[in-house]
Amino acid sequence: MEAREKCGVAAVSVPGQGASPYLYRGLRALQHRGQESAGIVTSSHGRLHDRRAMGLVHEVFNRDTLEALRGSTGIGHIRYSTRGTSTVENAQPIILPTHDGGLAIAQNGDIVNYQRLRKRLQADGVELVGNADTEVAGNFLAMEYENSRNMEAAIKRLMSEISGGYAFVMVHGDKFYAWRDPLGIRPLHLGSIEGGYMVASESVAIELMGGTPLRDVAPGEIIAVGRTKDKDGELVPTLRPLKGMSTGERAYCMFEWVYFSRPDSIVNGTLAYEVRYRIGEILAREARPDADLVIPVPDSSRPHALGLAQASGIPYAEGLIKSRFVERTFILPDQKRREEEVRIKLHPVPGVIKGKRVVLVDDSIVRGTTIKEIIAMVRGAGASEVHVRVGSPPIIAPCYFGIDMKDRRELVAHERTEEDIAKLVGADSVRYLSMPGLVEAIGHPEKSLCVGCLTARYPVDIPQEHRRLQTTLTDYHTETPQEDTIQ
Ligand code: SF4
Repeated sequence: MEAREKCGVAAVSVPGQGASPYLYRGLRALQHRGQESAGIVTSSHGRLHDRRAMGLVHEVFNRDTLEALRGSTGIGHIRYSTRGTSTVENAQPIILPTHDGGLAIAQNGDIVNYQRLRKRLQADGVELVGNADTEVAGNFLAMEYENSRNMEAAIKRLMSEISGGYAFVMVHGDKFYAWRDPLGIRPLHLGSIEGGYMVASESVAIELMGGTPLRDVAPGEIIAVGRTKDKDGELVPTLRPLKGMSTGERAYCMFEWVYFSRPDSIVNGTLAYEVRYRIGEILAREARPDADLVIPVPDSSRPHALGLAQASGIPYAEGLIKSRFVERTFILPDQKRREEEVRIKLHPVPGVIKGKRVVLVDDSIVRGTTIKEIIAMVRGAGASEVHVRVGSPPIIAPCYFGIDMKDRRELVAHERTEEDIAKLVGADSVRYLSMPGLVEAIGHPEKSLCVGCLTARYPVDIPQEHRRLQTTLTDYHTETPQEDTIQ
């Protein structure tokens, strides 16, 4: 529960209505993916309207600001910075000029080789104001578009240059585009609504925007939603799914199921809640503790704990109460404040815990500071033993694809055994889910998952790290767009 999340993106095109209220609802549904800044850009007859600011979605937008965002096509973004500093200049979407009007672009994830592209752009005289990879990608697209006047070709060119885990949304003219990295590391979902279309980082955002989730955007796929005249001469949104780039390989981030996505989201075809429940069942099989009570670390570990309780026969109890009005721990800037905030955010129920052998279930442990505080709190409330069961294998290596786990030295499981970790965090025992158990719970083969932070073997080339899937960027192949594939 300590990992800092990435970002969330959404895009909408609806006939005859403003896009901004939909995007507002979608971003609120994705708020758990980032709480530093929020932004929406809409397009009205090719003219862009934007608002970006630091803060939560409901702090950044109100009725007046949403009404000022005119146009029935738009994109939105919420951010937790994983690249670039946390300032409003790096808030997204970012806008760049082209001869056919501005383009606005936003991203979830990280481009691992963006510095190379950045140097090339600078050598070509492009001025970059921030230090985020999205700005580099946007400038590259704008430059390519000026050369070819073909945005789909420009996106493909960008995809052939970059490597990493990403999901982009972009608006240009009256069209929006969305595309996902060739291995599908970062999620992106497509939905329909009232004669229009939408995409979002999670299916739940599509539902909360009032739409119907249709399917995942395929790894490497480009979605283009434009406008054509219907039989009555009205301009209506039309969907063109385009083959972008794919090696046929997959590397879905296992953490989307374990923790990042909302439990009510369908991630790459599987409901996150079901995976988490199965993880609990498998933990009961692999590491059933001798205990009186199963207690989840709320909120994200509830399904894991329920699965463990039901499969083990150990009673489930809500022994930790979470304050509803404290922001998520990880957004606080320094370690000391983070530790203090754990105590403000969670409070043990003394009558439930006193004299009991407790199993605390957490979905994951990154630095170990949060669980250490919680264990001390549970012991303080009278637990006679505290055992910890973790819903993922140990995190031993950094993430390079948009999750803030950058430094091995910060990771409690790096070069430590379960016994070492138990001693360090003050638990009677700590047991992690096994890798086969994780793969079984997710239901996709291990070769289709990114498990880089668990194994230090990554799906794409990372200098100084082992590579397990992609060999070179030239392994990707581009394909001709399918003309007028309208669904
Ligand atoms: S390294 Fe870990 S957190 Fe990062 S994308 Fe891969 S599985 Fe997800």
